[in-house]
Amino acid sequence: MYYGFDIGGTKIEFGAFNENLERVAIERIQTPTGNYEKLLTVLAELVEKYDFKFGSKGLIGLGLPGIENADDSTVLTANVLSANGRPLRSDLELKIRREVKIENDANCFALSEAWDDELKEESFVMGLILGTGFGGGLIHHGKVFSGKNNVAGEIGHIRLPIDAWFYLGSDKAPLFNCGCGKSGCIDNYLSGRGFELLYEHYFGEKRKAVDIIHAYDCDDYKAVEHVERFMEVLAICLGNIFTAYDPNVVVLGGGLSNFNLIYDELPQRISKYLLPIAKSPRIIKAKYGDSGGVRGAAFLNIM
Ligand SMILES: [Zn+2]
Repeated sequence: MYYGFDIGGTKIEFGAFNENLERVAIERIQTPTGNYEKLLTVLAELVEKYDFKFGSKGLIGLGLPGIENADDSTVLTANVLSANGRPLRSDLELKIRREVKIENDANCFALSEAWDDELKEESFVMGLILGTGFGGGLIHHGKVFSGKNNVAGEIGHIRLPIDAWFYLGSDKAPLFNCGCGKSGCIDNYLSGRGFELLYEHYFGEKRKAVDIIHAYDCDDYKAVEHVERFMEVLAICLGNIFTAYDPNVVVLGGGLSNFNLIYDELPQRISKYLLPIAKSPRIIKAKYGDSGGVRGAAFLNIM
């Protein structure tokens, strides 16, 4: 059996998968806040419960919104505060007496999609999350590519390309601060939050992303202008990213991935930002939605 945990700031999702990679159990619990020992205990209890239920010793994968330090295995996470700065993987290994795998949740999302029947023959799949934040995961020949410091795929913290800066109007372009301590990270322009920040910057009013998209569908002139601006900045940024990585397929997840205009327009908009011999990769919507994190975490032990 393969057990996956998707550990978020408010809830933990557990999933058990059989040898055919079919999900045979699912459970959601509240994330214990501010108490690391309690977090380890609830994870261990779920493992023991399902080991007993299935009469097996499941292989464990953890996905969380953060990065494991490659030197000392402590976790850097702004969302799961009780685990921040703690060696979550190695502490859980001691508690449940078996090896545990851990990955960033965007990498788990990308792995889950890349292992879908339709994509598993593709050599290089990139997962991009256009959600509250903007992040990515790289799956090369069916495996997570995480790099020396486990930061490969953290493309939300690439700084805004110069051509996007000029497109936004260098004297009018906003320079947003990022949670990582830098300014101008593309996370703050391309995420759902960035979508709202850009609208507020140019029109001086706060508006929710869903309301802006609804207004766009009703031909509201501000929403139309905003979506045009956002799509072009997205195309510029992705053009730069694709030049560096050259993926075969790009799978989009997160709230903004439901905006179907992206799939109709992005490939042609991106072309002009690629090298002359390059073509845009296929860009498709994620299949597994919210269950991608737990699926990918479970698959960490198979890849
Ligand atoms: Zn950043």
